[in-house]
Amino acid sequence: MLRQYELVERVRRYDPDANEELINRAYVFSMQAHGSQKRASGDPYYSHPIEVAGILTDLRLDDETIATAILHDTIEDTVATPEQIEKLFGPNVARMVDGVTKLSKIEAQSENERAAENLRKFLLAMSDDIRVLLVKLADRLHNMRTLHYIPSEAKRRRIAKETMDIYAPLAERVGMYEFMKEMQTLAFQQLEPEAYESITKRLDQLKEGGGDRIARIASGLTLLLGRHGIQAEVTGREKHPYSIWRKMTERHISFEQLSDIMAFRVVVADTEQCYRALGLIHERWPMVPGRFKDYVSTPKRNGYRSLHTSVIHNEKVRIEIQIRSEAMHAQAEYGYAAHWAYKQGTAADVGGTKVSWIRDLVEILDHADSPEELLEHTRMAMYQDRIFAFTPTAS
Ligand code: MN
Repeated sequence: MLRQYELVERVRRYDPDANEELINRAYVFSMQAHGSQKRASGDPYYSHPIEVAGILTDLRLDDETIATAILHDTIEDTVATPEQIEKLFGPNVARMVDGVTKLSKIEAQSENERAAENLRKFLLAMSDDIRVLLVKLADRLHNMRTLHYIPSEAKRRRIAKETMDIYAPLAERVGMYEFMKEMQTLAFQQLEPEAYESITKRLDQLKEGGGDRIARIASGLTLLLGRHGIQAEVTGREKHPYSIWRKMTERHISFEQLSDIMAFRVVVADTEQCYRALGLIHERWPMVPGRFKDYVSTPKRNGYRSLHTSVIHNEKVRIEIQIRSEAMHAQAEYGYAAHWAYKQGTAADVGGTKVSWIRDLVEILDHADSPEELLEHTRMAMYQDRIFAFTPTAS
């Protein structure tokens, strides 16, 4: 578990002006409030909110958000009151802790109860301040990381399904792809254990058989661009198991038929170099028709920018390549949070930012005729940038 001084140190590294005392006070308050409560893992309960705060330091979030993360379960699970929180930590932290608590309450209701009206409340609680959503997503990510400690399989599956249906799409919607991928991987492992097992096993076999193919292709790309004066940071990886599974089920194909399981990322200095790099790559290897997407000139609604293409590399391997600048890359990894950090220099001005797409959803909710229609709209708006495949029943 993160120690008090480690957490403060992490925050001060990216924000020297952070209110150290606020974080320390929250740490002590949370530890005392949770007392001897235990997690399913056997760890003391207070380790959970501290880890959630730790996850948020990766996003370089401001001191109030870190304090909110540390306190996020105190109203729901301890005798602490909203008045106490407000008195000790100020109105902003109190409001955000209240927001996260509201989300947890809605979550605790049964699936049938959780109809349109609740979804509306859910979205409203988040729309006041996007930091509430970021804390909630980090909370869910940590709960997913420790999901295997929960003894009841039914409960594990319910949490995994909820993560797949609600939280992973939300993470994607705000552009937090690292969160999304980790949530999907963990949920997939729980929901389709056999498929997960067989895909990861095959990926491992490929790794052994192909030697360091990824490293070879990556250094080839670096060399090609370098020869033309473009300094690029090239990384390669296999796609994550859930995205492979989704492709297999969408296209009704087997793992062997799936040709592009390797993806490469080319990070260059600026936008102009993105297009030059693309040109050089297409000149060198034939592109796969229909796979080129220019999210630089037309960004996704969540602000994501990148050039995507697939080419047929030597040895008849299809590879996917994403090309982006450093600024685009930071935003793609951590979404809005990084975007603000870049723009503001610090993450301190995040507060009070209204998230327009959530507002849009609430608007739709207010003007629809029936609860069913509301839900339908909501899901569609939420998932509109992606093809969303519900996990098929195992056959
Ligand atoms: Mn929690």
